[in-house]
Amino acid sequence: MSHHDIPELFGSLVFNDDIMQRRLPKDIYKSLRKTIDSGKSLDITVANAVANAMKDWAIEKGATHYTHWFQPMTGITAEKHDSFISPTADGRIIMEFSGKELIKGEPDASSFPSGGLRATFEARGYTTWDPTSYAFIKDGSLCIPTAFCSYGGEVLDKKTPLLKSMEALNVQALRILRLFGDIYTKKVTTTVGAEQEYFLVDKKLFDKRDDLLFCGRTLYGAKAPKGQEMDDHYFGAIKPRVMAYMKELDEELWKLGILAKTKHNEAAPAQHELAPIFTTTNIATDHNQLTMEIMKNVAKKHDLVCLLHEKPFGKATGSGKHNNWSITTDSGKNLLNPGKHPQENAQFLLFLVAVIKAVDEYQELLRVSAASAGNDLRLGAHEAPPAIVSIFLGDELTGILEAIEHNDSYEGPGSTHMQIGVTALPNLPKDTTDRNRTSPFAFTGNKFEFRMLGSSMSIACTNVIMNTIVTEELKQFADILENADDFSRELNELIKRVYKNHKRIIFNGDGYSDAWVKEAERRGLYNLKTTVDALPHYISKKSIDLFTSHKIYTAVELKSRHDVIIDNYSKTLNIEALTMLQMFRRDIYPAVNKYISNLCKELSLKKNLFPDMPCLSETDIIKKLSTLLDKAYSLANLLDSNLEKGKEFDGKVLELAKHYRDSILPVMELLREAVDSMETMVSSELWPYPTYGDLMFKV
Ligand code: ADP
Ligand code: MG
Repeated sequence: MSHHDIPELFGSLVFNDDIMQRRLPKDIYKSLRKTIDSGKSLDITVANAVANAMKDWAIEKGATHYTHWFQPMTGITAEKHDSFISPTADGRIIMEFSGKELIKGEPDASSFPSGGLRATFEARGYTTWDPTSYAFIKDGSLCIPTAFCSYGGEVLDKKTPLLKSMEALNVQALRILRLFGDIYTKKVTTTVGAEQEYFLVDKKLFDKRDDLLFCGRTLYGAKAPKGQEMDDHYFGAIKPRVMAYMKELDEELWKLGILAKTKHNEAAPAQHELAPIFTTTNIATDHNQLTMEIMKNVAKKHDLVCLLHEKPFGKATGSGKHNNWSITTDSGKNLLNPGKHPQENAQFLLFLVAVIKAVDEYQELLRVSAASAGNDLRLGAHEAPPAIVSIFLGDELTGILEAIEHNDSYEGPGSTHMQIGVTALPNLPKDTTDRNRTSPFAFTGNKFEFRMLGSSMSIACTNVIMNTIVTEELKQFADILENADDFSRELNELIKRVYKNHKRIIFNGDGYSDAWVKEAERRGLYNLKTTVDALPHYISKKSIDLFTSHKIYTAVELKSRHDVIIDNYSKTLNIEALTMLQMFRRDIYPAVNKYISNLCKELSLKKNLFPDMPCLSETDIIKKLSTLLDKAYSLANLLDSNLEKGKEFDGKVLELAKHYRDSILPVMELLREAVDSMETMVSSELWPYPTYGDLMFKV
């Protein structure tokens, strides 16, 4: 493929606006556009016409099936494929797809987690088309992005609340814009660019490890002699095999209209990153799900496996996902752009302090949005953001807000006495203190970057929470400002007050340092170390009040989400523990024992031949390995009995998760430690698995 073909390729598998305009009758297109732009419900005659055009287009592109593509509460994405084929009375078939089939599907929902929302006798759920996200073709199927609900109307997916939160933010943000005299903006949306980190390993090596196969991460593995200390990976040339993978990945993503843009190696060997150009939040969410799926599929074609786990290689750097978030108007004006004029600056500062207040008041919810067994291994570990939520603003912006708070002049570039709405903000140099990689939530010039998310997680939950907490603050601000006698004075006071009351969340220093943990505690910030610590906050009164007042979740829906996440935590650790036991008993134990017995045979041979020889090395290794093997053996038994004890907590999801955190995970770590020590002593010929060195350096 030459670069001339790229524009042709881009979006070629997407039923996008351009195709719709060309293929739909004018009036049909107009009605559909109205539905897309303003959420008007879709008329059945319009749906029929759209369905028919979609089907014809999809068949021309080689598709034979269609599926309602949706995002259940866990897992990646779900699809149920139906063919377009429909029998006729005279025994032939025709290719059919009706408007009814387009807007509503009825998958059997019983295999998707509902957190107790759906009794098994009403196993069916229904899906409804989200016309704001374009249909696309994947593996010969027309995929229709949809929302997923139970028959009782409870939401069972990640998309519906996301759409609701976007609409809620739209309403409140418009109120604010009107106060600043903007009468033109009709719609405000949030935008997201999700940077995705991943590892690539050789498929043949992957297949030799049960832990990678069952858990997506290694559960054992001694550190390789070389890690990332030489920094030769980050800026190094990309290996040809990886290059070929990235090229194909880009092409596949472009066909789906995904604006994959940059790629480079990441800090750890075999780690890479993909960043798309940002887009509307719900589309960015769909695209990130698709990206993860395509990443895995393309890897297979190159005899590689793409690992999306947060911590695939023990203590080596893990993978995250950076959720770049901003707010934009329908004319493309970024509301988190400081702007050049006092008026724009004032509006920017108001949105800025709304985010500051939101993140301070609802830190724990942002932490919840990044909670999973896999990501727990990463948060707070070296080179990942701490589990403490804080905001990095940079020295300039912090200086400006400080000056505003104290009625001081700002002693930065273009030092002036700041008066909101009157004085222009000094230029904010983007690169002076930016790139503080240790902050979990950083302002990067015209957007906020949330860095806590794990690489395998959906970005939906984070963005539902971001949208909702900012909505709440904008609502409070609008309530105050709409009733102000003197708008400018009230605005000034509000910005000052909010900054003063919530600036404890701002931290521009080193988030990895121990000093910060202490300082954060002094400031009263949360440090929710594990999923189990974080999740109860999801169903606190404060959280329920927030989500119900903006009609994002009902209390019941929140509880179900809480249960699904907690349940998933225990299940993940259960699978990991069982995998560890199997690997230890069936592969590692026999290998170590064989090595010990080889040494014993040698030792007795030597002693027979040379009775006076001390045979120090054999004796030493035999002793050490035997001790370690016994230790590992006892730990494996302990793990077994602790797993058994888990059965006592049947039905009590939180208690069970606590049991896994406190009695399973620590034993897993000890068992691993013992095994990793043995790995460094046993002959490589006998060791049953590819090593970290093999996995990370042989791609
Ligand atoms: P870096 O952080 O590496 O300097 P960029 O600043 O170019 O990278 O952006 C990182 C990510 O943020 C990209 O995915 C980009 O599309 C996204 N991004 C940029 N502007 C916005 C915005 N206004 N809203 C949401 N995401 C954005
Ligand atoms: Mg980034």
